[in-house]
Amino acid sequence: MKYLDIFEKEEGVQAFFTTKEGAVEGSPDGTVFNNEQLFAEMGLTDTFKVWPRQVHGTNIEVIKAADMQRLTEEELQKLNGGIILPDTDGIMTDAKNVLLTTVHADCLPVYLYDAKNGVIGLVHAGWRGTVAGIVPQAIRRMVAVLGAGRDHLKIHIGPGISKCCFEVGPEVASRFLLEWGSSFSKPVDNDSDEEKYLLDLKAAVKQQAINAGIPEENIETSTHCTFCEPELFCSYRREGGTYMRMGAGIVMR
Ligand SMILES: [Zn+2]
Repeated sequence: MKYLDIFEKEEGVQAFFTTKEGAVEGSPDGTVFNNEQLFAEMGLTDTFKVWPRQVHGTNIEVIKAADMQRLTEEELQKLNGGIILPDTDGIMTDAKNVLLTTVHADCLPVYLYDAKNGVIGLVHAGWRGTVAGIVPQAIRRMVAVLGAGRDHLKIHIGPGISKCCFEVGPEVASRFLLEWGSSFSKPVDNDSDEEKYLLDLKAAVKQQAINAGIPEENIETSTHCTFCEPELFCSYRREGGTYMRMGAGIVMR
């Protein structure tokens, strides 16, 4: 299996998260998910690709259908099938046939889809981006700029390192404790003097989405953990800095 289907039950949208079989090689200047063979297998060759160069920040870029429509044939040809966006960890669009992509090796992909208003979004959220609030910011932008409705927004919190495996030291845990008390970080019993905590990043993101006005029943969370399923996924932490990156993508048709 090269990828998992996301939003299987939803109409008008195609979304995926690749397994290690569909992963791409990392690059020092910022990896993007450009797997032409896989795009061909998924029937996505004709889409216009959006490739953010992710920096664990909170910058979100909006690709408006109106702007896409203004592009001339010549301009489209120059872009050669897609656009790279520097310093970006969240992307959204109200245009059909625009494939939003991100790359992952433990950090969460967060997929957003409003079928009624025709809006999609994709966010790369590690602990830094989550503490900085990239997901609630994305929700607000989708509503304010692209006319999404909170009641219609469906959110899928995808595979990533999970509470079973996401061990961190007190510096990182303190950021979570400050933000959410002890809700999403649990101290680990161990014999050493080192303080260790397990973070539940997925639950933190879900709570943020609920606080941003998304009905809880609209939010689904993947049970897949990239760290403890080596047969399916690459993991930056498990492999001590993998060069492979799994791809997330979403497009309206
Ligand atoms: Zn795990």
